Amino acid sequence: MSRIYLSSPDIGAREEELCVAALRSGWVAPLGPMVDAFEEALAHRCGRRHAVALSSGTAALHLALLELGAGPGTVVIVPTMTFVATANAVVYCGATPVFVDCDFIDGNLDPEMLEEALLSLRREGHHVAAVIAVDLLGHCANYARIEAICADAGVPLLADAAEALGARHGGRPAGSFGSAAILSFNGNKVISTSGGGALLTDDERLAERVRYLSTQAREPVAHYEHTEIGYNYRLSNILAALGIAQLERLDEMIARRRRLREGYSGVFTGVEGVDVFQRDGDADDNCWLTAILVDPVTARWKRDELATALSLSDVETRPLWKPMHQQPVFAGAPAFLRGNADRLFAVGLALPSGSALSDAEAGYVRGLIESFLFDRADRGALIDV
Ligand SMILES: *Cc1c(COP(=O)(O)O)cnc(C)c1O
Repeated sequence: MSRIYLSSPDIGAREEELCVAALRSGWVAPLGPMVDAFEEALAHRCGRRHAVALSSGTAALHLALLELGAGPGTVVIVPTMTFVATANAVVYCGATPVFVDCDFIDGNLDPEMLEEALLSLRREGHHVAAVIAVDLLGHCANYARIEAICADAGVPLLADAAEALGARHGGRPAGSFGSAAILSFNGNKVISTSGGGALLTDDERLAERVRYLSTQAREPVAHYEHTEIGYNYRLSNILAALGIAQLERLDEMIARRRRLREGYSGVFTGVEGVDVFQRDGDADDNCWLTAILVDPVTARWKRDELATALSLSDVETRPLWKPMHQQPVFAGAPAFLRGNADRLFAVGLALPSGSALSDAEAGYVRGLIESFLFDRADRGALIDV
């Protein structure tokens, strides 16, 4: 069995067909009919009026934050439990990230902590340019509350839905929340364009501004004329072709990820001290990654022991994101914490969850976990005696 990854790209005949069509059409630049069609399909899928296809999710965060007013002298609230891109984009704008803890149950921005942070930052005289909420592992943040809190505070909300395409919350699709939302199509995400991302919004002006900034802020004249600093952040037409094919298969790929989660749930049913993360109330999730939480006291084994056992059989696993406030690069950054992200990082382990995993590979991974558990149970029985 060759190495089994956490989440590798799932590419088939349709992707090949559309990429070849894009190449043969002559549109290989970062503009063209595939880019337009991909944007239309994304906006439709996410219930938004506008989508702008960009070179990465990070680029989408960067431009959205610039347009929402993040800049020197402002702060932006960032969930500490996220991938570093969310925080990096704030720094690109010259703003200061302020990290806020998550709920232990789903790992997403804790609304109560958000309120506390907003109040306290206000009191200290900070200008909060934006709040970012992240849909961790494809489970939407608590937008019902977060949207209301941001509206009350008069602060724009940016939804980082990089991991959540296809998920839903309260009857609305991921990507439809906030003043703007972003998606990522990196190699390991639910759908992939090898690299890519998008900005989603209902605000036509915002969409136009982001489109303009992403093409070197070029004025619409024949000669190259620039009045602002721009960026080279547009998605190529060939990669957009890949995106269209992937989006057509999104539901099928989510169903596949869900079956993997159900398989893991079966393996861990009745295993003391182990919970499948976000499993309760995951009907609307896209199941991007399935992770487990291991309480070493009750389970009598540690998360890292399982990670090591699987790695010896060439199976990739990964702890949950190391919280931003623990990252050396953000040492000393202001943070509002309760220890939840720290605990999740200490006990969480993401398991192979990619839709390209074959039934044989999925069964192989479950078998390895079962024999690991069998060995531990044995050892536990001996200790009991
Ligand atoms: C992947 C990811 C990003 C960045 O997307 P790229 O396309 O890799 O730039 C941002 N935020 C979160 C939460 C992500 O998981």
